[in-house]
Amino acid sequence: MVIVWLEEVRSKDVALVGGKGASLGEMINEELPVPRGFAVTAHAFRQFLDNTGIAKSLFESLEIDVDDSEALKNAAKKAKSLILNAEMPSEMRTAILDAYDKLCERESETVFVAVRSSATAEDLPNASFAGQQETFLNIRGGKAVLEAVKKCWVSLYGARAIFYRAKQGFEHEHVNIAVIIQKMVDADKAGVLFTSHPTSGEPTTIIEAGWGLGEAVVSGSMSPDNYVVDRRTKKIVQRHIATKNLMHVKDKDTGKTVQKKVPDDMMDKTVLTDGEVMKLTELGEIVENHYGTPQDVEWAIADGKIYMLQSRPITTIQIKDKEIKSGKVGELILEGIGASPGLAYGNVEIVSKLDELDRVGKGDILVTQMTTPDMVTAMKRAVGVITDEGGLTCHAAIVSRELGTPCIVGTKKGTKVLKDVKVVTIDGEKGHVYKGRLEQAIVKEEVAAPVARARQVTVTEVKVNISIPEAAEKAAATGADGVGLLRIEHMILGLNKHPLLYIKEGKSEEYVDELVKGIRTVADAFYPRSVWVRTLDAPTDEFKSMQGGEDEPVEHNPMLGWRGIRRDLSDVEHFKLELQAFKKLYSLGYDNIGIMLPMVQHPKELSKAKQIMVESGLDLDKIELGIMVETPASALIIDQFIEEGLDFISFGTNDLTQYTLAVDRNNENVADIYDESHPAVIKLIDHVIKECNRAGVKTSICGQAGSSPSMAKKLVELGITSISANVDAVESVREAVLRSEKAILLNIARRY
Ligand code: PEP
Ligand code: MG
Repeated sequence: MVIVWLEEVRSKDVALVGGKGASLGEMINEELPVPRGFAVTAHAFRQFLDNTGIAKSLFESLEIDVDDSEALKNAAKKAKSLILNAEMPSEMRTAILDAYDKLCERESETVFVAVRSSATAEDLPNASFAGQQETFLNIRGGKAVLEAVKKCWVSLYGARAIFYRAKQGFEHEHVNIAVIIQKMVDADKAGVLFTSHPTSGEPTTIIEAGWGLGEAVVSGSMSPDNYVVDRRTKKIVQRHIATKNLMHVKDKDTGKTVQKKVPDDMMDKTVLTDGEVMKLTELGEIVENHYGTPQDVEWAIADGKIYMLQSRPITTIQIKDKEIKSGKVGELILEGIGASPGLAYGNVEIVSKLDELDRVGKGDILVTQMTTPDMVTAMKRAVGVITDEGGLTCHAAIVSRELGTPCIVGTKKGTKVLKDVKVVTIDGEKGHVYKGRLEQAIVKEEVAAPVARARQVTVTEVKVNISIPEAAEKAAATGADGVGLLRIEHMILGLNKHPLLYIKEGKSEEYVDELVKGIRTVADAFYPRSVWVRTLDAPTDEFKSMQGGEDEPVEHNPMLGWRGIRRDLSDVEHFKLELQAFKKLYSLGYDNIGIMLPMVQHPKELSKAKQIMVESGLDLDKIELGIMVETPASALIIDQFIEEGLDFISFGTNDLTQYTLAVDRNNENVADIYDESHPAVIKLIDHVIKECNRAGVKTSICGQAGSSPSMAKKLVELGITSISANVDAVESVREAVLRSEKAILLNIARRY
């Protein structure tokens, strides 16, 4: 049987149409609103391989050492060319085209369809290959449908899928693929819903919703609205309306799916009406009752009509209770520094060379010596990160925290210990790596996005640190009072082309535009809240590995070398490009941007920088200008900096600690004596706050210490103006600040 209509399919047909197809069939039979369509069966795929005679060479080409990335790439390439070049048997073509024509007849138009892969293992029909095969949206016309079917088949042999199956012990020959072809829902709004609470199992429905097609919500690339309904009282008990920046829609001219910015008047508007929330809850309840277990459902709304697009069981609720009550803990196989909190489990992917990054798929744990800016895309796919090197302020730690990905750094031997381990669970708070899959982590994974609580206002502002512009929306949704540090070097290193190469090639304008684009994304997300952008502060060793970075000097100790303001004042040409970017941003109306100079150690550096800024046409009377206090020198003579004139200072405690204590911040061997609350560091901070408060200069902190609630409490007591924390710590720091402020008031009141 080449094709089967979804309404003819039931759960028992998983081996024929895959889990996705079977669940759609069940929902149609329950008279739930599912877009009509058909499946090209897994059986048809086998027939294609056999009839065209490519089966033998295809499976032979997959017999490789999957750890050899070149061989893996070649196998995927060979499979692709075999499938795409083989002619589909004519009865098969006709069956698919006839079914598509029928679908068009039913709808009285040449319909746009979604062509979705639904892989399944013959002997293990419920094996999950979710997310490894592809989906093609907005496909129209018989020829395009046939092409998309073949592309779905090809995706069964993508490098990552081959690698995953080999590591999991699946025989390639026994894994099949069906293709679902369904009328496309041109969604005005879409999202996901949990029919019951994913951790407690309580009958509360949690709905996430965004504008346009569901891709942006499902992939987590934007913050969706979040609605919680108590199914017992039939009341909406919580409603969090997010600022929604992105949406995926069908391009009217080309018919292709495109990503676009949400129009201004829709960004903060609630996506769902109360009626829609209740209707979705009701439909979710029907799906749950049908399956007898809580479900995770993808839905869409087009022209006011609701559609259910997919349903999967949330199977972990009971497991969690059992496991946690029994106190079962897995085998601890590795320890490091917990750098980004959260639990995650997944397949271990050890990356030692950049060309191996493709192997890191959605849901994997990335293990490497130390991450670099080239790895950010792979870090976004990974559910966890483990590194051999680094401390709390290294690249892996900073980026993982912004992505909300659990991360453990400084394990010293992760890449060795995990060499022969397939699956691990990581606890990014404790820094623990366990062998296998711990159920607690599974539960955690199923938890819906946190429901925002009413924000408490504090007098001491609580801000957030950002390094990758993509994290801006999420950071802004914390309700932070602004950005206390925007690091631009991650953005620049991510370009992978040395700024000097842009200059050499006469493409300075392009470079300036890249800076404007990145900074603007953050300034937009926070407007009118202030965003302090730090000028370049990258050590030479990181710049050297960029394309065109060959001329970077080799420094014995880059941390104490040509970085921060000292670099900008001697490489004035580059500094001027940064200033050009700021000028452009101000002319575009971003009056919320402040400029912060890093690594200063003498007031003359501040005065020289100001002179170049004025020469470059910046109006310093209109711009908030400040310095990072991260050298003991700047702290000790802060009065002289104040005299030179500045609006704010921000403590860079990562560096201030390393330079005060002479302890390398990235060296795991001395991590135990790296202490930001060392009395000497606190003494410097106290001195600077006192001097600044006397002169009316704002004080802030953007080092890692600002993310610690106990440090926040101390800083409020010392009189700091604001605290800038990592995105995951904004909430706890705000609570600590609030408590500290109240305690101060209470103590005064009690004295009278
Ligand atoms: C610091 O030194 O505390 C700081 C925030 O800067 P960076 O971590 O980028 O050196
Ligand atoms: Mg620093």
